[in-house]
Amino acid sequence: MVQSYDVVVVGGGPAGSSAARRAAGAGVSVLLVEKEPQIATTVRTSGVTWSSSISEFGIPRRCYNPIKNYGFVSPNNKVVVRDRVSRAAVLDVRQTYRWLASEAEGAGASILTGVPIRSATRDGSGVLLEGAGGFSVRGRVVVDASGFAGAVAQSLGLAGPWRKFGAGAEYELHASNVDPETWWLMVGSMYSPAGYAWVFPVGGDLVRVGIGVAKPECAVDPKTLLDNMMRDKTGPVGDLGEVRVAEYHYGLIPNGGIDRRSVYDNVILVGDSAGQANPLVLEGIRYAIRFGGLAGETAAVAASGDASAASLASYETGWRRAVESRIKSAYKVQDRWLALTDTQWDEELDTIRELSADEFLDFVKAEFGMSRILRLAVRHPRLAVRQLFGLVRPR
Ligand SMILES: Cc1cc2nc3c(=O)[nH]c(=O)nc-3n(C[C@H](O)[C@H](O)[C@H](O)COP(=O)(O)OP(=O)(O)OC[C@H]3O[C@@H](n4cnc5c(N)ncnc54)[C@H](O)[C@@H]3O)c2cc1C
Repeated sequence: MVQSYDVVVVGGGPAGSSAARRAAGAGVSVLLVEKEPQIATTVRTSGVTWSSSISEFGIPRRCYNPIKNYGFVSPNNKVVVRDRVSRAAVLDVRQTYRWLASEAEGAGASILTGVPIRSATRDGSGVLLEGAGGFSVRGRVVVDASGFAGAVAQSLGLAGPWRKFGAGAEYELHASNVDPETWWLMVGSMYSPAGYAWVFPVGGDLVRVGIGVAKPECAVDPKTLLDNMMRDKTGPVGDLGEVRVAEYHYGLIPNGGIDRRSVYDNVILVGDSAGQANPLVLEGIRYAIRFGGLAGETAAVAASGDASAASLASYETGWRRAVESRIKSAYKVQDRWLALTDTQWDEELDTIRELSADEFLDFVKAEFGMSRILRLAVRHPRLAVRQLFGLVRPR
């Protein structure tokens, strides 16, 4: 006998746990299946998020390190945008993802770890999932929260592999000299020929140092670039003093536009499997949590009645209304960034120097709403600042 649930969630990342939590909270039966032996056994992200998102989701204080200052380095320029309050944070990714999963369990979801889902087939009024070791389960609605893999969508033939994506390699290090309130973003060909590098303090003497590259634009493996940067102690890495590697992280993130649907009969895609990420700075955790909740809520309603794509459409409309235009604007800025030479990056930093901390963070967060752009245009009449936000396309 194959066990059936109203909602089965595949993947125990931020999208999956949030979907499971909200669906279970709505009173339907929910199973979350995660392939790894524990939630967040492997870390695939740098974990930067925003104080406003932390408050919105109620993430406990033990799970993050607050950031107040934002350093930006190009080959021959450097700027630090300073603030009096913290508006950003670096998450303890494991603790945060495990907290999200415990919230889902608390709401009544069952969690099964150590079971990779290998195939999905439509089965009467739902979807049959089969995994390692003869495991099978049926969901009236299945939420694909398996991240970049999009395991359910791919198995059902709903979506192919991502053509454009970001790849990132990162060390989590103990360092003898860390400013826990200041992050660094590093741009220019000495760091990454198509992307950027970072130093993100995690708290105490821990810091994440990484490099991301855009694929297929850049053929080089980010791990090779990262090892070169560590060996040469390039830029802010040279200020970290003695370092000792604690962990190595590697991850992939869709980066090709929101070109796939996120609802099908009995199936919802959420988080990275739906391409819900800001491509500019590889940022998707807050979207995964927020839209995971929306997916779970929608799945719970559909599971007790009509689970057709049409009845799930409110989910797609909802998340697209919230972020689609921002993500599209971020793509424009990203295209421009990828074409900048080292000299142009040096000039770009002079433009960034004009921004206040909240303006700078709006930019990094891809908050390019019209009211913000207009305020920016008034405060900074210099054309370059408006170009930076994509208001005026560079000639
Ligand atoms: C290098 C890098 C750095 C990043 N830095 C940031 C950052 O600083 N801030 C930020 O907000 N975002 C960042 N991101 C993006 C962020 O990590 C993702 O947007 C976010 O993790 C998406 O959450 P998710 O739940 O959709 O997917 P994931 O977090 O990838 O979770 C998917 C889960 O599904 C499981 N799974 C996969 N396949 C199966 C299967 N077949 N069966 C069962 N389980 C399965 C996986 O093990 C995993 O637990 C970064 C991404 C990369 C690659």
